Amino acid sequence: MAEDKKSLNFIEQIIEEDLKNGLPKDKLRFRFPPEPNGYLHIGHAASICLNFGLGRTYQAPVNLRFDDTNPAKEEQEYVDAIKKDIAWLGFEWDKELYASDYFQQLYDWAVEMIKQGKAYVDEQPQEKINEQRGTPTQPGIESPYRNRPAEESLDLLERMNKGEFEEGAMVLRAKIDMASPNMHMRDPIMYRILHRAHHRTGDHWKVYPMYDWTHGQSDYLEQVSHSLCTLEFKSHRPLYEWFIEQVYSGGLKPKQREFARRNLSYTVMSKRKLLQLVEEGHVNGWDDPRMPTISGLRRRGYTPEAIINFSELSGISKRENVTDVALLEFAAREHLNKIAPRRMAVLNPVKLIIDNYPEDKVEYLKAENNPEDDSAGYRDLPFARELYIERDDFKESANRKFFRLTLGKEVRLKNAYIIKGESVIKDENGEIIEIHATYDPLSKSGSGTPESKRKVKGTLHWVTAEHSIPAEIRIYDRLFIDEAPDGHKDRNFLEFLNPNSLQIDRKARLEPNLQDVKPGERFQFTRLGYFVVDPDSKPEHLVFNRTVTLRDTWKKK
Ligand code: ATP
Ligand code: MG
Repeated sequence: MAEDKKSLNFIEQIIEEDLKNGLPKDKLRFRFPPEPNGYLHIGHAASICLNFGLGRTYQAPVNLRFDDTNPAKEEQEYVDAIKKDIAWLGFEWDKELYASDYFQQLYDWAVEMIKQGKAYVDEQPQEKINEQRGTPTQPGIESPYRNRPAEESLDLLERMNKGEFEEGAMVLRAKIDMASPNMHMRDPIMYRILHRAHHRTGDHWKVYPMYDWTHGQSDYLEQVSHSLCTLEFKSHRPLYEWFIEQVYSGGLKPKQREFARRNLSYTVMSKRKLLQLVEEGHVNGWDDPRMPTISGLRRRGYTPEAIINFSELSGISKRENVTDVALLEFAAREHLNKIAPRRMAVLNPVKLIIDNYPEDKVEYLKAENNPEDDSAGYRDLPFARELYIERDDFKESANRKFFRLTLGKEVRLKNAYIIKGESVIKDENGEIIEIHATYDPLSKSGSGTPESKRKVKGTLHWVTAEHSIPAEIRIYDRLFIDEAPDGHKDRNFLEFLNPNSLQIDRKARLEPNLQDVKPGERFQFTRLGYFVVDPDSKPEHLVFNRTVTLRDTWKKK
């Protein structure tokens, strides 16, 4: 039971109620039912965390069921990617199942329904069927084929499936009620003809079942106790229940319940639109670090823990809402702060020379790997006369609010010494190519001297010129500049693409401890943010992605 939780979400309340009313706990069973027509996104993660989370709470099995009833859009690549993403999030499914496994059973049930006068083949074109459906306030018109003899429908269905008819020539419809106030009950379509090879059943079928005629029956066959879907299916619930009544032969009747879709600000989440971004080259694939996909977030440096924590923070709701992407970024920072080793990297380097530091001397300074994690230990950082610092960390003269390096003022170099700006050398264009400074030899960090305890305004990160290694750093920003890019009536979501969503810094210098990093390793670069090694990275060409800055800077821009 879920008593240990602070407060139950409304789905858990429904389950608790069912248990109280006699549903045995060992009958609880859930499923996550992706359609393999794209990669999973952060919206799916809400459903994954909900279903698999319930599985954990109640120690109940959760099936992974691919809802693969539309061969026109589905592919094995997507099946593989979906499995990888769920496993990466740390969830284990009980059985891997496919709606296509039930095609024969569904067909047999459809034949039964025709025999019982509850389904018929309609030979009218789709537009005609749509016209006759009526409106919510006006009853529909019955099809002239509605009361044809069962033998005719049986014969036609068989021939539809042999491939004797064109796509769209006819459909199988349930015979329910053309005057129902619920439009979904007005003789919904059960089968349509599709002359397409299916990624699992090949050319075996020429008729494919519709979602409504598949989902509930799959739930019933698998004895799923609670079938959780998003709100747009609420009005389908009577149909879901009607179809289950028709095929019911004992056992548990699955219960469909609905929750609000997760929407996220500054992005789009429909798979159709994500596919368009990929196919038109607005991003570099489904796992582009700017995509709201699980694979994109992984490549961006997000941890499963951050995604799961985000799901808990954003919660499960009964009403449509938009979650601020800043909450997702917050969840990333919160986890990365605990686990990411600290390293120094200089993105836009300028040379800093410490004139009074001995020319050939190299010192190894002790630097803490992670102040948030005592077990993370220390590393050695080389220090020498020639260094790099961020170009932005120096101004020849600046006002009192500039706490970085200027001429005549002191700052601390992190883990090292206090230095004072002395002079600059510029090229013919007036650009600074060298900053000269002096250091206070008694001010070494952690040395305990009075000089080392002296307070100075700023602390800068740095690397040595000699020991530092080059790297390519990819700085990602939000993919869209608008909070709701697909929320504009007369404007296409592509108009709101952020032209600066990717900036590449090829001149970055890293401390030498980063030489042997592997793709997927995450770090905090001092003062810059959290970074992850990209799969493109090689020892001779290191590539990092910025996951997120240390603080939320977006609102200020
Ligand atoms: P899309 O409209 O983007 O294609 P979908 O709902 O058709 O999404 P499915 O693969 O059918 O995608 O979804 C699998 C499961 O994940 C379903 O149970 C669906 O309700 C749920 N799901 C999909 N998108 C979201 C979302 N944004 N928030 C919460 N759950 C979602
Ligand atoms: Mg769907």
